[in-house]
Amino acid sequence: MGGKHKPCPNCGKELEFSAKHNALFCRHCESQQTIIRTSDFSAENSDYLQTLSELDEQAEVPEYIVANCENCGAEQQFPENVTADRCQYCDSPIVAAEYSTRPLRPSAVLPFKITREDALQHFRQWLSSRWFLPSKIKKQARIDKFKGIYLPYWTYDCETSAPYTGQRGEYYYVTVSYTTTVNGKTVQRTRQERRTRWYPAAGMIKHHFINILVPANHSLPEKLVRELEPWGLAELGEYQPDLIRGNQEQSYAVPLAAGFSDAQRQIEPRVREFIRRDIGGDEQRIHTVNIINDNIEFKLILLPTWVNLFQFHNQQFIFLVNARTGEVQGERPWSAWKITFFTFFMLAIVAAIIVFFIH
Ligand SMILES: [Zn+2]
Ligand SMILES: [Zn+2]
Repeated sequence: MGGKHKPCPNCGKELEFSAKHNALFCRHCESQQTIIRTSDFSAENSDYLQTLSELDEQAEVPEYIVANCENCGAEQQFPENVTADRCQYCDSPIVAAEYSTRPLRPSAVLPFKITREDALQHFRQWLSSRWFLPSKIKKQARIDKFKGIYLPYWTYDCETSAPYTGQRGEYYYVTVSYTTTVNGKTVQRTRQERRTRWYPAAGMIKHHFINILVPANHSLPEKLVRELEPWGLAELGEYQPDLIRGNQEQSYAVPLAAGFSDAQRQIEPRVREFIRRDIGGDEQRIHTVNIINDNIEFKLILLPTWVNLFQFHNQQFIFLVNARTGEVQGERPWSAWKITFFTFFMLAIVAAIIVFFIH
């Protein structure tokens, strides 16, 4: 693979991938180098069951890679489940992916498209649209706070069939008579009431699920990461170390089979939705469903994220940018002082209104 070292042909410093230039770029002398990519690349799937039988699936054991920096020679241990990063001493890009102990390597990647400068802009906009944000937080909007991380994901495809039994409910209306009191007299009236008639229903759902996405490690809060979707997976390109250079690449920690269990949890509600549509009528009851997934295939892919981990009052907050679409998600601190001030301000207005109406 030869992914470790990539010196600038001009000055000898390490090249890194630049989203702005969509090429390898040298920070020192600003020279660029095109990355040659397969133009007709289409991300290929691997067979799930066959791979599982060949794999000795280890549990969620963290991976720690030790590598030497090609620029300064310093040996360093990468953080947990990280296979590419920058040297902690000289900041040179290091891709140590070939030292990974994980048996499966990513086959496809969406390269960074949103630049670090764009990420900062998105963060500033996000901050300015939040209410009750502590003023000091604006100081966290610094370009050097953003780290480019390639997050690993499993994607699964499968042909799903689901025989089911249930009931279709159809509404009908009946006229019901009742007595009521009008002007002190008891009178007979009628009204329409809705009833449901149930009919047996049974059938079979068939659906080809494509690219069911499962985060393959939990280095960032899943709730936030999920909200970054969709990614535009049709644009996936071939994995190349040159596309990673200068950003962090994380390895998977969720085993392949556990990832598929997650995919199945995503499939089930969608199958039930298909069944409801298939049953039709006004209401549906589902008694039995048997979901069968055949021809299961998977890919291991990398998706690009700008991450800003910022501290406030000894608490950590996370801000994320989908580095393809610019979609942002974040956790935020609240300013107790601003909330208190606002509450008193509102109470004062309410009090003024009451005083105004009483007099
Ligand atoms: Zn250079
Ligand atoms: Zn170094």
